[in-house]
Amino acid sequence: MCEHSHPPVDRRSLLLAGAGVATYAAAAAFEPVPAAASSHRASRTQSHTFRGTFTGVGTPDWHYLPVRVPRGVSEIQVGYDYTSTNTGAGFSLNVIDIGMFDPSGHGLGDAAGFRGWSGGARRSFQISRESATPGYLPGEITAGTWHVILGPVAIVPPGVDWEVTVTLVFGRRRRRFRPTPAPRRVAGTGPGWYRGDLHLHTVHSDGKRTPEEMVQHAREAGLDFFVSTEHNTVSAHGVWGRHATPDLLIVNGEEITTRGGHWIAAGLPAGAWIDWRYRPEDGRLAQFTDQVRALGGLAIACHPWVPIPGTKWDFGYDYAGMDAVELWNGPWTLDDNHAVQHWHAELLAGRFIPAVGSSDSHSPDQPVGQAQTIVHAETLSATALVSAVKAGRSWLAESSAVDLSFTATLGAQSVSCGERLAAAPTDLADVHLTVAGAPGCVAQVIGPAGPLAGALTDASGQANVTTSVPVGATPFVRAEVRRLDGEPVVNPLEGVPGLAMVAMTNPVFLG
Ligand SMILES: [Zn+2]
Ligand SMILES: [Zn+2]
Repeated sequence: MCEHSHPPVDRRSLLLAGAGVATYAAAAAFEPVPAAASSHRASRTQSHTFRGTFTGVGTPDWHYLPVRVPRGVSEIQVGYDYTSTNTGAGFSLNVIDIGMFDPSGHGLGDAAGFRGWSGGARRSFQISRESATPGYLPGEITAGTWHVILGPVAIVPPGVDWEVTVTLVFGRRRRRFRPTPAPRRVAGTGPGWYRGDLHLHTVHSDGKRTPEEMVQHAREAGLDFFVSTEHNTVSAHGVWGRHATPDLLIVNGEEITTRGGHWIAAGLPAGAWIDWRYRPEDGRLAQFTDQVRALGGLAIACHPWVPIPGTKWDFGYDYAGMDAVELWNGPWTLDDNHAVQHWHAELLAGRFIPAVGSSDSHSPDQPVGQAQTIVHAETLSATALVSAVKAGRSWLAESSAVDLSFTATLGAQSVSCGERLAAAPTDLADVHLTVAGAPGCVAQVIGPAGPLAGALTDASGQANVTTSVPVGATPFVRAEVRRLDGEPVVNPLEGVPGLAMVAMTNPVFLG
């Protein structure tokens, strides 16, 4: 979830190339006019400093600082400073996010002009033709008007002062950065169940791992694939090819981190960037989820019930426009439990949105693959995984140690997660659940009204549950494996303890 749940960063010295930077103090409300520029012929740099205050009263979400870039600039350096406040409740107040657009455009959806984003994760960055700070896109330093974008978050009175310094470095044209995206498929794979983590962060946004470490940890977690989902940027797409191994598929994605909830675009072409500068009331979500689908990807609503303002899902719990919902985000918690309860109620009402689970891991103390989604795909490829997740052909687990098989059969016909068993209302369907690698658990087959059958796992962690259900009274069945010997997850609002989830399936539909 993050991106504003990091600890406060102390005021640091600015990245100022050259002395004597002239500045101006904006009034209480910021006016997007650049401060005086200072030019340093000797060092071949030119600096522009902007200052202002966000008071939090009527402050728009996005502010643009225009920077005139003349010909001959080989690198742009940006540093900024402000003081945020840690609430101690998992998020910070008075955060100012930052990013950059080039002269190709900075309007809503102007992907061509997007040059990077670091949110509140770092206080300086640089962009040149041959390299850029993670989160930013290397490329041409085109002459024209660039824009630093500032995004004030959770500003409380009396507000927060800020200062941004842009340093233009003149020099000869540098070598061109060559992106090395990961392959979009793993050769020699066929139909099968593939384990993956659909939601991960590296140093390309507010994560701690390098891309190389992420690949190592994903392999150690027993994954077949993962989706690269940095907050609001796609800079990592251009480096995965350097780290991909022949047995691990890395799928390009982005965590679209809006002010009204987060969603994942997964299965994007390398470098495709999806805009995030809208709130639910702007009515623009569908434009961008449609764009993701047109690009061959899918849209997943993230951590929908996390109790953090601006991070929980404010676009509506019908998940309109979404292809899937992340019911399980990281270690099992109350909001995950609530997400499953709500999702089950929607199933009762005849509305199905496929469930996924992922770790949203930002650092090595948050295991990759806790949770994970195990997908039945035709091949281990981005295209096949997108189709399979959209169809609900998947189940969720806390780790690769857990294995599960869930089928409904009628005569010679056998179907699994996300599929429909062709049957008449008078038929009895046989439902089989087999679990392994889950000691101390209860495995249950769940129908519309609740558990239909269950068994405790044995000392080796195995359980088999078989039951017959009347198709006419049971439009769907699904499975859950919950831990009996762990700490119950207590929900004071609902008054019932919830056992921690170890695995769960998407439904099988009957009739
Ligand atoms: Zn998030
Ligand atoms: Zn995330």
